[in-house]
Amino acid sequence: MSTPHQDGGVYSCRALRGRTLQSGEKFESHCGWPSFFDPKDTDAVELIEDRNTAWSAPEVRCARCGSHWGHVFEGEGYPTPTDQRYCINSISLRLVEK
Ligand SMILES: [Zn+2]
Repeated sequence: MSTPHQDGGVYSCRALRGRTLQSGEKFESHCGWPSFFDPKDTDAVELIEDRNTAWSAPEVRCARCGSHWGHVFEGEGYPTPTDQRYCINSISLRLVEK
């Protein structure tokens, strides 16, 4: 947790403009991808059980357009309220400044 939260914006699906992930829920996991511990609006995301990947983590998709965003991992021990890590491909998202 070395990077301070970037406040004042939301991430939205690059294909659409709905609210999705809040920048305040972003945290530094050092995995190289933006990580979030909780979607701002759970209706915005869809979790698809994906058994074809080596890590068998559910896939995270945009609930509105089906765009692939990344995967969600659980129980990795990050100091977040949900113990979840939404590992999101930054290409899929756009930061919308307040
Ligand atoms: Zn979308």
